[in-house]
Amino acid sequence: MEKILLIYIIVFVAAEFIISSVLSSLNRSWMSHPIPNVLKGIYDSNTYAKQQRYARECDRIGWIDRVFSFILTIIVLVTGLLGWLNDAVCVPAFTNPLWQLILFLVISQTVMTLIGIPFSYYSTFVVEQRYGFNKTTHRTFWADTAKSFALSIVLSSVLIGVIFLLYQTWRDDFWIYALAVCVAVMIFFSMFYSNLIVPLFNKQTPLEPGELRSAIEIAVKSAGFSIKDIYVINGSKHSTKANAYFTGLGRTKRVVLYDTLIQQLTTEEIVAVLGHELGHYSHHDTWKMLGFNIVYIAVNFYVFSLLVSNPALPKALGGTQWSFALALVAFSLLFTPIDIILKPIINWASRINEYYADAFAVECGYGKELISGLKKLHANSLSNLTPHPLYIKFHFSHPSLEQRVIAIQDYDRELSQPNDAEYGHYGDDDKK
Ligand SMILES: [Zn+2]
Repeated sequence: MEKILLIYIIVFVAAEFIISSVLSSLNRSWMSHPIPNVLKGIYDSNTYAKQQRYARECDRIGWIDRVFSFILTIIVLVTGLLGWLNDAVCVPAFTNPLWQLILFLVISQTVMTLIGIPFSYYSTFVVEQRYGFNKTTHRTFWADTAKSFALSIVLSSVLIGVIFLLYQTWRDDFWIYALAVCVAVMIFFSMFYSNLIVPLFNKQTPLEPGELRSAIEIAVKSAGFSIKDIYVINGSKHSTKANAYFTGLGRTKRVVLYDTLIQQLTTEEIVAVLGHELGHYSHHDTWKMLGFNIVYIAVNFYVFSLLVSNPALPKALGGTQWSFALALVAFSLLFTPIDIILKPIINWASRINEYYADAFAVECGYGKELISGLKKLHANSLSNLTPHPLYIKFHFSHPSLEQRVIAIQDYDRELSQPNDAEYGHYGDDDKK
């Protein structure tokens, strides 16, 4: 039985590798396609040549990373390395299965972090540096790496440790309690992410009074909202790339603008980007995505609860005895095909939310400024303007710039002919 399971796992891992490789090569083959009409003029010829080099370099690193991870995963599976690690942590000093589980998690995550460091180092200090994006110092890089490592060790050990204790207590029904714990954790972090996690890596300061703050306050008020918390984050500590986002739930909701966004966009364009963020708020997108994730995790936990006690799961990874850690790893690998199917669905839902958020900004009268703001943001980050349609469907949480600009222009035009303006076609992702 465990041999068949191992073969399934290897086939799934290989299928995922093949699918992502095919999608990437399709995307690569479209990189030099002519720039769409609505986006002409974003790059001059020099910048375009630079963009093409940058896109290919990023693609190459992605490819090396993917091949390396695939080969490594196959080696780990075939040699039964995880089973060996699991036996190794069952030493007399750690007779308590909870400590054995945590030791397993700490060692495996340490190894994974160490393997990932050369890739992120090269990407930050060679590629991003070469194209003028990188602002991260070596000191910041190592401090950030250490902090995210510590954070992931602590969070995963506590969460998986608690889930294990629930399993020990409730056996088959543990998934209901585990789900409740996860939902509580997710809501907690949705609410306090800005207060607890972001300050570890960046500084956030309230947007100072002035032209921009007044313009934003007027825009927020005229859209019928009351968001007082508008923050500026020092994204320039890491990169010149700019962004803005809406975060938090209930009383903790806030709009966060990157300082780089404020440097690169005009006041009108920033207000338009904010209009898009208000669209997310008005459509309760944070709650919707949270709901989506809860359903996904519930399905995961339920299926896991059916399989967790099966001794074939740990044995498939080379374990000589039953172990919660090995069962969890084997299960997550067996769940790969469901992930492959779900990922494009989740991204599709997210792209619909993005279209509607854009539509909201258009309804507020910011259509033209949103387009010019988005174009600047894409140009300044040397974004690929011709992604392959299939690549968009699988990997893009936002529609492509071309799709967004066309949709915004269409809706803006419809609204200026007030007879039958309706945003019905939004969400029709295939429309180009
Ligand atoms: Zn958005």
